[in-house]
Amino acid sequence: MRIGVDIDDVIAECALPYLRRFADEFGVELPPEPGWHTLNELTEVSPADKDRFRIRTYDGDFFGSLEPYADCPIVLEQLVEAGHELYFITARAEKRRIVTETWLREKGLFDHAKAVHLKPAGDFDPTRAPGRYDAGSSARYKVRLAQELELDRFCEDDRTISVALAEAGTRVWLFDHPWNRDVGHSLIERVMGWSDIADKVGLPGAAA
Ligand SMILES: [Mg+2]
Repeated sequence: MRIGVDIDDVIAECALPYLRRFADEFGVELPPEPGWHTLNELTEVSPADKDRFRIRTYDGDFFGSLEPYADCPIVLEQLVEAGHELYFITARAEKRRIVTETWLREKGLFDHAKAVHLKPAGDFDPTRAPGRYDAGSSARYKVRLAQELELDRFCEDDRTISVALAEAGTRVWLFDHPWNRDVGHSLIERVMGWSDIADKVGLPGAAA
């Protein structure tokens, strides 16, 4: 299979470390199951402050500090050994390529990918505030790549992107998170993580 693989909250835990930093910065308390949806709920912080925080965080050491999910490296390795082709496809901006590829190398994941795709500057919606979460244009970018690369599966966590991929005919392994529990589509299969995917395709996974 040719498999597209998102990075944030699919390869690496991203929302939780982001929200912990956010909570520290603004002195707010996180709810029991925090996730990207939590940002909208924290109305005591203004949208402008949220945008500034996101830009400052992403410009800093944040992406370099993330940790892959424990069972991700071994399952990616087994997928490649079994003959599957992996394409890392993130909606991080193209200007994050160096920090992204350096991190993938450090974690021993870079060589598993046939290619690493980041979102070109021209694919961002110019009417959106810089730094603002923009799932619509990210969905169009990922749908286009899924078709160009003729992907059989896409590993994704985002609600809007998963549904857009499915509606365009690409099968999705939706990584279960609190912010996507309401997503359902005949081409979307919910997975609990990389070990779950290993089971589905008959690989030993972390038990190897
Ligand atoms: Mg993601």
